[in-house]
Amino acid sequence: MGRRRRHGRERQPLPIARYQRLSLRDYPGRLCAKAVVPGCNFRCPYCTKTDLVLDHQRIEPILEREVLDHLYRVRGYLDGLCVGGGEPTLHNGLLLFLYKVKALGYRVKLDTNGSRPKRLRKLMGEKVVDYVSLDIKAPLDRYHEVVRAKVDVDAVWESVRLLRRGHVDYEFRATAVPRLIDSRDLEEIAQTLVGSKRFVIQQYRPGKSLCTEFEGVEPYSEAKLEEFKVKVEPYFPECEIRV
Ligand code: SF4
Repeated sequence: MGRRRRHGRERQPLPIARYQRLSLRDYPGRLCAKAVVPGCNFRCPYCTKTDLVLDHQRIEPILEREVLDHLYRVRGYLDGLCVGGGEPTLHNGLLLFLYKVKALGYRVKLDTNGSRPKRLRKLMGEKVVDYVSLDIKAPLDRYHEVVRAKVDVDAVWESVRLLRRGHVDYEFRATAVPRLIDSRDLEEIAQTLVGSKRFVIQQYRPGKSLCTEFEGVEPYSEAKLEEFKVKVEPYFPECEIRV
């Protein structure tokens, strides 16, 4: 591929499907705004972002300019921007957008499924991300079954290695989805990630899902999540439950 064509693609604006001007929960310890991008290469059956994953061509994107204008106006009030999705690393325009956000003085958190390690490496190398939250969907041998898409599991594990070796703050996050992920799965994931800095057990939130079979599923109780935590916390310096 020609260099010029590649650079042209990187200049494409980042499509932004939703923009939340204030979030207290998307960037640990910080007040942030959140930009949500459309499109995902996974098909997790419990995913409630059906419009972003299946119908994203119909979403009228918010202009980058609007988001950047807002961030400019609230400099000094917010600490950061969280970029989630969908899967942000699928988009060619992500790097250039994040350069602009960093130029405004913001810290950037990226939520990712880890399937694009080359792009993650580039973002880390260019110092446009300050915190990465990487979703670990399942133990290695159950990845395809859980994400229900063709996925290069080695690529996800390359992203894990990049974060563990790199300079960027990070967490690995597993969603405790009843019927899909149980205590044994979480322990297996923990064993694979042993020694990583921070592990988060995330509560599953039911809603209209990619697969209707998950719509009536009751989340695990908080007591059950505490039991899971007791099992996995010996593997990490920091471990928390996020509800
Ligand atoms: S839950 Fe799965 S399908 Fe939904 S956005 Fe995240 S990675 Fe994509």
